[in-house]
Amino acid sequence: MTETTEKPTPDLSAFFRLSRPKKKPCALGFGRSQLKPVEREQLDAACDTDNGIITASAIVEWLGQRGQTANTNNVVSHRKRMCSCYDES
Ligand SMILES: [Zn+2]
Repeated sequence: MTETTEKPTPDLSAFFRLSRPKKKPCALGFGRSQLKPVEREQLDAACDTDNGIITASAIVEWLGQRGQTANTNNVVSHRKRMCSCYDES
């Protein structure tokens, strides 16, 4: 038989996880880390509030007032937990 049977690829996911450098938090996560603990709680609560009630741009402006820069895209993906802050590490 000359037929080459495809060898199953070993599962390397554990190695990938260990090899992956720790990602930096997104702009929102970084801004969040610079805030006072009280403000951090406010921000988390705001992010968990429906975006029909607290808009992404409101969060951007709120952060801006505290000297932190993020854009609405950062807020949207952070709220969906689709940013680097929520990458499994
Ligand atoms: Zn984030």
